[in-house]
Amino acid sequence: MTFKKSDELREVAKTIPADRLFSETDCPYLTPVPHRGKRNEPSYVNFTTEKLAEIRGLKIEDVERTMALNFFELFGIGEQAKTGTISYKIRNSLYLNLTQRCTADCVFCTRLTKPVVQGYNLKLDREPTAKEVWESIDDPKKYDEVVFCGFGEPTLRLDVIKEVAKKIKDAGGRVRLNTNGHGNVINKRNIIPELSGLIDEISVSLNADSSEAYDDICQPLPMFRNGIYGKIKEFIEEAKKHISEVQASIVTHQRGVDETQCEEIAIKDFGVKYRARRYNIVG
Ligand code: SF4
Repeated sequence: MTFKKSDELREVAKTIPADRLFSETDCPYLTPVPHRGKRNEPSYVNFTTEKLAEIRGLKIEDVERTMALNFFELFGIGEQAKTGTISYKIRNSLYLNLTQRCTADCVFCTRLTKPVVQGYNLKLDREPTAKEVWESIDDPKKYDEVVFCGFGEPTLRLDVIKEVAKKIKDAGGRVRLNTNGHGNVINKRNIIPELSGLIDEISVSLNADSSEAYDDICQPLPMFRNGIYGKIKEFIEEAKKHISEVQASIVTHQRGVDETQCEEIAIKDFGVKYRARRYNIVG
């Protein structure tokens, strides 16, 4: 992967699911850059891992954590990732894990089967209180952003979001909310004005270009079917009025979803940022 001409290999490395990643040398052969031409040795594996982190837009410690967990799962050596993680750092962002409940059951989501992200196990034995969430944050200013995310829908715990986001803002931090866009239906009111001034950026999972495709891919709870897609679009429109940065996202390679159309909906119809991510690249 470190060789100049290995573009195709780097493309493959970008899309491997995190829980299938491993790094090794082929010493004494295939010496990575910057030692190419010399005899390879195991300690050079770091150059390969560094390149992998760069390709995947991560820090080396993120890849190291993932590989330590994969190593444990493969050989039973080392430590299993502990459950009950409330806050977790990826790159220079801090993510907050409020709940494992959700109003959808997306076909690509491993929330209930393997809630692991970049080497962190997000399984919660119970939902943390606002106090516990706040106390899990050392210093909000240290991070590029603090993100309400996790494997579950954060707006199911709107009061916790509001209380903790206020504290983060008061402490000089930046706040992002990642949501499935069901928040107004969940809370039976327009919650966006309540988030004004507390959330700097909101990322809404659009995930489809039609209501039928959305229901098929995201499998919302029965009472949310036939119409939740329209509510998500309204949620994005409303978010634009109160939150300075709004993004619509999709997970790529899903059956029946026209990704070009999704991009048009986000950029042309809504005038918001658009992000497409691979289904197996989380975080
Ligand atoms: S909305 Fe998010 S947390 Fe809920 S099932 Fe889909 S991917 Fe998982």
